Amino acid sequence: MLNPQPGVYINGQWLAGSEQLSVINPATEAPLATVAGGGEASVEQAVHAATTAFPEWSQTCGADRGAFLRKIVRGVQERRERLIELQSLNNGKPLFEAAIDVDDVIATFDYYAGLAEALDASQNSSVPLPSDDFAARLRREPCGVVALIVPWNFPMVTTAWKLAPALAAGCCVVLKPSEVTPLPELELADIIAHCGLPAGVFNLVCGTGLAVGAPLAAHPGVAKISFTGSNAVGVQVMQRAAETVKGVSLELGGKSSLLVLADADLDLAVELASGGGFFNAGQMCSATSRVLVADELADAFLEKLKARAEAIRVADPFDPDVEMGALVNQAQYQRVLGHIARGINAGALLVCGGERPVELPRGYFLRPTIFTNVPLESALWREEIFGPVLCVRSFATEAEAIALANDSEFGLVASVVSADAEAADRVANALHAGLVWINAPQVIFPQTAWGGYKHSSIGRELGPWGLQAFQEIKHVIRSL
Ligand code: NAD
Repeated sequence: MLNPQPGVYINGQWLAGSEQLSVINPATEAPLATVAGGGEASVEQAVHAATTAFPEWSQTCGADRGAFLRKIVRGVQERRERLIELQSLNNGKPLFEAAIDVDDVIATFDYYAGLAEALDASQNSSVPLPSDDFAARLRREPCGVVALIVPWNFPMVTTAWKLAPALAAGCCVVLKPSEVTPLPELELADIIAHCGLPAGVFNLVCGTGLAVGAPLAAHPGVAKISFTGSNAVGVQVMQRAAETVKGVSLELGGKSSLLVLADADLDLAVELASGGGFFNAGQMCSATSRVLVADELADAFLEKLKARAEAIRVADPFDPDVEMGALVNQAQYQRVLGHIARGINAGALLVCGGERPVELPRGYFLRPTIFTNVPLESALWREEIFGPVLCVRSFATEAEAIALANDSEFGLVASVVSADAEAADRVANALHAGLVWINAPQVIFPQTAWGGYKHSSIGRELGPWGLQAFQEIKHVIRSL
């Protein structure tokens, strides 16, 4: 059993929480740690600490805040190996995937350190007016105490995408990690605790959604909620936030498509389809779980994709040859298995996978799964599965492919594979998605926005948009 920090960090102090959270290792199903999380009283204390710290922190200059973010970068770099291990242990993802996450955290804090430093030069910039009688200047000010609520699939990454811009903007923060994966965030919090931030600027309360998330969303002292998670909970958060007229940023689900056009390189298409469906065991809001293939390529593509999926080595996350690890917990495992069973009942054709690898009797392991003939109205086609499950379908025309991809309540991301740059751009422009990759894996940069259309998001993370989400705009106009 691990012995992590307590589950509550408020006003620069680690505090014993009131509610015991059992954390398990999804690869073994064995207990990993017990974390004492908080409840409503901890939320009250954390918001109070953040509110008290806000007047001074919000007046610091961007350069000073950037310096703190750079200390966090160094702290994460120093504990990189530990963070990778904890993330793999707690989440079930292979070490190489956890390493990508930790490097993303470093890149994100580094990027927002730069944006914080650049703020001072742009503050009070003059605004051209069509009048000689008045002058106007623009200020961007932090929006106040913010609550950050994150899920379990990329716990540290989603935390960094919110925390780095919130601190850069000058906000004070209460972070609520997922109760399923608090261990990497507790380590990150310990790094931050060693960076010398003024007490109360950063606070963390582990706990369940009902015990901690709901009171945070309702708290009148919280100016803004930045939430990543399921649509069902996102709606609840928005409803609670409405009562106190809080700002909300929501990053929710997806049902994204990868489109393989008739002139695509088949091997590249197979690699991208496999990565888009099976990375992180498919537990990605950005999973391209619908694969749309031009009629001409459909048979050859399916044969190669099946061979690729069957060759994927599902194994313990610490195995040096692992390609896909475990799903995060029993509930998620059963949910995905339920989707597979309902898909078969609805008439979908199982091409491969759909079951536990025989060599792994324990742990939440599932073979990469591919379906064809998936009815367009079935849950398998329409709902987010959040597991290693791909639905492959062929199309006759570009217009049909675009219509199939856009026929979803979601609109997070999409991928296009084609040798024809003009066609790929044309299709990318027609897709309802916040981010489209062409002939590329799902690379993400702090400079490019994250978020989507329709039910996938409200707002955007990363880039300057991620910072603006935590800023108020103030114009000052005076007579000349
Ligand atoms: P979830 O909605 O169950 O939980 C997310 C967070 O909300 C957790 O910290 C949870 O404790 C908290 N929560 C639960 N009930 C709450 C309530 N009533 N009030 C306030 N907070 C509450 O999601 P999950 O199962 O942890 O994560 C998977 C989901 O997250 C998927 O739907 C996935 O698409 C989504 N996701 C989206 C993105 C994105 O960028 N769009 C990224 C990652 C995950």
